[in-house]
Amino acid sequence: MKRRGFLGGLAAGAFWAEETIQAYQGNVKTAGKPSELKITDLRFAHIIGAPMRAPIIRIDTNQGISGYGEVRDGASVTYALILKSRLIGENPCNVDKVFRKIKQFGFHARQAGGVCGVEMALWDLAGKAYNVPAYQLLGGKFRDKIRLYCDTTESHDPKVYGERLRKRREEGFTWLKMDLGIDLVEQTPGCVTAPLGVTQRTAGLTPHMFTGMEITDKGIGLMCDYVAQIREMVGWDIPLSADHFGHIGVNSCIRLGKGLTKFNMAWLEDMIPWTETEQLKEIKEAIDIPLCTGEDIYLKEPFIHLAKNHAVDVLHPDLATSGGLLETKKIGDALMEYGHPMAMHFAGTPISFMANVHCAAATENFLVLEHHSVDVPWWKDLVKGNDQPLSEKGWAVVPDKPGLGVEPNADEVKKHLAPGTGYFDPSDSWNNERSWDRLYS
Ligand SMILES: [Mg+2]
Repeated sequence: MKRRGFLGGLAAGAFWAEETIQAYQGNVKTAGKPSELKITDLRFAHIIGAPMRAPIIRIDTNQGISGYGEVRDGASVTYALILKSRLIGENPCNVDKVFRKIKQFGFHARQAGGVCGVEMALWDLAGKAYNVPAYQLLGGKFRDKIRLYCDTTESHDPKVYGERLRKRREEGFTWLKMDLGIDLVEQTPGCVTAPLGVTQRTAGLTPHMFTGMEITDKGIGLMCDYVAQIREMVGWDIPLSADHFGHIGVNSCIRLGKGLTKFNMAWLEDMIPWTETEQLKEIKEAIDIPLCTGEDIYLKEPFIHLAKNHAVDVLHPDLATSGGLLETKKIGDALMEYGHPMAMHFAGTPISFMANVHCAAATENFLVLEHHSVDVPWWKDLVKGNDQPLSEKGWAVVPDKPGLGVEPNADEVKKHLAPGTGYFDPSDSWNNERSWDRLYS
């Protein structure tokens, strides 16, 4: 009926492109014909300092619309470029199909950066093609604003660090996180026992259980005194999470965790590697404050394994490692089945931030999202197109613009490019990368 009415209103002989009629019929404003949208290019702009190194990627199409994503902080943009030849010719609106095609090229931590960056860009494109925000494509939203916690530069002086954290609360943040490592007490005699010559710094790449580093009662006492002063300054009513304990053994984690119990910490993060289900569970069962892990895990299966075993209390995926928006929503939904909340780890530009915001809006058991760049003055200027602030007083605002809801601001991005790199320069040398990618014979 709609179409008849529509056509009936046309002057005889008027020409209407088929895609216009298709769009009208669907009552959806589209950029063209979504079913014929094809990926034609993938390029990058490598931003530094927003924080660390964060390559943003742009996926172009045959209908003049582009989608943006971001390779995880610190990762190589090559992880995205090797996917280019597998993406050209695909319809970006088939997000899940394309994700399943490329997900074999991701792995834990930074190696997932390419797959996840592409997945973000696909949602941006699908949203633009159908003129709806990404959260809507994920099933709609549970909330209009997203609770944030932020990274705060550490100081070994509890008065200085406590004041910095207290200011975060004053700025509107409703959840705090602090770094709390054995580096605080390592230089004080009698606090840390380690094979002579081994320091927290040199042990940084050795898994916690294998360093031989243990903390003494004196060390635990000093760390607890430090937290006590900070707790008094920020207040006892606000969640206070802690991270970066250092690579100490399981027994030290338990003794330190017991010491920290009286400060009612919101979670203790990555005390040992996420791979150690049984030993995480041992720590969790011995202490009476929540344990958290997850920022280095790729894909939902390890999260489900940890949740099923109740090895930690809070799981904390980084969307730029965990598999992108849809996989992270699936992770949240799976965790909920086992009674666990999902916090979200994040460090990057506003492109990846917005991918997180859409996913957090669409996931019921979401708890809190990290914001790593509150102190970078130009961070918010890296993007444009949003007619509301990215965040306000400790909360991110969920945008209603199509896709992720932001576009790079070329003028600002160009000021922060990695030396020797261009602004979405051609990447044709990656067009013909070929490999027989079958996973079974
Ligand atoms: Mg962490």
